[in-house]
Amino acid sequence: MRVLNEVLNTFLPKECPVCGKKIVGEDVICSECMAKIPPIPFYQMNSRMKWHFDDFFYRAPYAGVMGKIIRAYKYIPRPSLSHFLSDLFLELFERFPPSSNAVITHVPITFDSLKEKGFDHVKRISLELSKKSGMRFLNLLEVSRQRKRQVGLSREERKKQTVGKYEVIREELYKSSGVVVLVDDVFTTGATVDECSRVLKARGASRVLVYTLAKSSKK
Ligand SMILES: [Zn+2]
Repeated sequence: MRVLNEVLNTFLPKECPVCGKKIVGEDVICSECMAKIPPIPFYQMNSRMKWHFDDFFYRAPYAGVMGKIIRAYKYIPRPSLSHFLSDLFLELFERFPPSSNAVITHVPITFDSLKEKGFDHVKRISLELSKKSGMRFLNLLEVSRQRKRQVGLSREERKKQTVGKYEVIREELYKSSGVVVLVDDVFTTGATVDECSRVLKARGASRVLVYTLAKSSKK
């Protein structure tokens, strides 16, 4: 049955999750949308900001096709899209390689969102990324308590809501290299990845490298 489904998925026309155009074959998005994904930007972390992470890389601005793919993936759990998005991350790893002994972890979603959606979209990508890159995946972080949703909050309000939100749940950190690759989908104010980095460092991480699919220009 699974083989049949795979065959059907390959040959039946499906819709591009970005523009809705019919596509046939193994492509996940149509070739026109694919061509609109910009090259990896040259980016230097703003050193005037005091972050807890050591470096930050992103694949593309959170706009246009990239924004649409991420939103499509976030709300509909399509395995084909997690393959596709982990490939985009892999390109970022090739351009800015983390040390080979680093471990991959992800920014977790709340228990309520997990119940609502049935899957953790960033965790899925991180697991695929681990398989493809050969780097070890460790589930290091958990949301420690329920907070209000962050939508529509200012940078300062978000920051307040984020402190204390995450905790480290695994001890293996001490036994590994101490270098953690922290994966998330979108970097907006940086408050979330910064708080995750803070708790990872408090529990023994020597370096935290943040990799996201996109960076929003909203502050
Ligand atoms: Zn398209």
